Amino acid sequence: MKTLIEPFKIKMVEAIRQTSVQERRQILEKAHYNAFKIKAEDILIDFLTDSGTGAMSDRQWSAMMMGDESYAGSRSFFKFEAIIKKITGYAHVIPTHQGRAAERILFSIMVKPGQIVPNNTHFDTTRANIEYNQAAAIDLAVPEAMHPALIHPFKGNLDLEKLKDLLEQRHRNIPLGMLTITNNSGGGQPVSMANIRETAQLLKKYEIPFFLDACRFAENAYFIKQREKGYDQKSVLEIAQEIFSYADGCTMSGKKDGMANIGGFLAVNDGRLAAQARNLLILTEGFPSYGGLAGRDLAALAVGLEEVLHEDYLKYRLRTAEYMGEQLLAVGIQIIQPTGGHAVYLDAKSFYPHIPSHHYPGQALVCELYKKGGVRGVEIGSVMFGKKNPETGNEIPAAMELVRLAFPRRTYTQSHFDYAIEAIIETYHERESAKGMRIIWEAPFLRHFTAKFSPAG
Ligand SMILES: *Cc1c(COP(=O)(O)O)cnc(C)c1O
Repeated sequence: MKTLIEPFKIKMVEAIRQTSVQERRQILEKAHYNAFKIKAEDILIDFLTDSGTGAMSDRQWSAMMMGDESYAGSRSFFKFEAIIKKITGYAHVIPTHQGRAAERILFSIMVKPGQIVPNNTHFDTTRANIEYNQAAAIDLAVPEAMHPALIHPFKGNLDLEKLKDLLEQRHRNIPLGMLTITNNSGGGQPVSMANIRETAQLLKKYEIPFFLDACRFAENAYFIKQREKGYDQKSVLEIAQEIFSYADGCTMSGKKDGMANIGGFLAVNDGRLAAQARNLLILTEGFPSYGGLAGRDLAALAVGLEEVLHEDYLKYRLRTAEYMGEQLLAVGIQIIQPTGGHAVYLDAKSFYPHIPSHHYPGQALVCELYKKGGVRGVEIGSVMFGKKNPETGNEIPAAMELVRLAFPRRTYTQSHFDYAIEAIIETYHERESAKGMRIIWEAPFLRHFTAKFSPAG
C-alpha cells in the first residue's frame, strides 16, 4: 500500500475552534503580532513546539490511573527506572521535572568557571545552564549543517576534526563532552552511529566523560536504521542501546521522546556522580524516587518510553515531516533539507526576499500563516537571535531567517497537515504583498517571548 496511515485510532477528541480571517486579524493585532501572546484556544493548528504537546495513549492514561503516589519507593518509579535501564543500560536513574533540571544538576556538579563544554549544537537551556556556571558552551556542528538546501543524511553530526583540535589544545579545561540527538537547533537532524562512536573515542583518549542530550533518541535511532549501513536489520531498541553504550550518561526531556506532557531524567553510570546528583535533587526537585513528578507522571513516562520505540510509530512520525517538506518543495518553497524528525523549517529569507532582516521576514511569515489558516509557528531568526552592535546600536541580523513548524506527537491527522500545507502555499502565492515588522517594545533578555510588533510601512 502507498498510503501510510496514522498507526492509531482516536478514542477521545478535543474540539478546535474555527475562526475567520477577519477574527484572526483582530486577534493578531491585539497580540501585538507576537504569536506567543495568542491564546491557544484561538489557534487552529498549533505547531509552536513538540514539547509536552503530544497525545498520550490509552495505555498511558490507564497507567496514570495506576500511578503510585507514595513519597518514597513508589511502584511507578521502579517501572520508570526499569525501562530507562533497559534502553540506556545506565546504572543510576534520577527523575526530574523536565530536561533542564537534569542539565542544571549535572552541570552544577561537573562544570567549573572558565571551563568549556563541546557539543554538536547546544540546545538553549543546555547553553544557558553551562553559561550560568560561568563556563563556555561550544558548538561544533559539521559545516554541512550551515547550508539549508544541502542534502546530507546526518547533518546533526559533530565536526570530529574540530573536536580533535579543541581537545589537543584545551583538554584539561573540558569537564565533559556532549552530543544532542537529534540536533534540535540544527533542524532536528540526526547524528550517525559512527559519529557518536568516534566522538566517544576522542573524549575517552583524554578520559573526559561523554554525555548525550537524548531528548529525541528514538527519532535519531530510526534515522540510523533508515540511513546508516549495517543497521537496517536491527531493532530501534537495539540501535538505541548501542547509542547509549558509547556514553557515560544522558540528560533527557520526557516531553519529547518520553511521549508525556511533563518529566525528564538524568541517567549515569558513575555512582559518585549519582550520589552528588541525588543530594542536589533533594534540594530543589524532590526525593530521588519522584524528583518533582507525581507518581502518575512517572507511570505515563514508563509507558511512553516503551511506545516511542514502536517502529510503525517512528515511520509515521518521520514520514509526516518528510511529506510536508515534499509538498512545499514541489511549489518552490525553500526549507531546511532534508526534513528532520520533529519539525519543518521554512526559509523566510527566500519566502520574502523583499523584506530585509531588520523588518524580520520570519516574524512576518509567522503572522501571515496565522492570518491565513490559524496555524502557529515560531520565528527562529533575527527576532530570536539578532544582536545589538554595542558601538553603532544597529542590530546584527541572525545567520538565517527561519520559521519552525514543530509537530506534537500523535496529535494531528494527515488532513490537518494537508490543511497547514495549503495555508503555507496560499501564503506563498500572496508573498509579494506581505509587509515586514517593526519592534515597538522589547524586553532586555529573550525578547521573542514578549516583544510587541507593528507592521512596517
Ligand atoms: C527540550 C529540550 C531540552 C530541555 O528540556 P525541557 O524538558 O524543555 O527542560 C534540552 N535539550 C533539547 C535538545 C531539547 O529539545
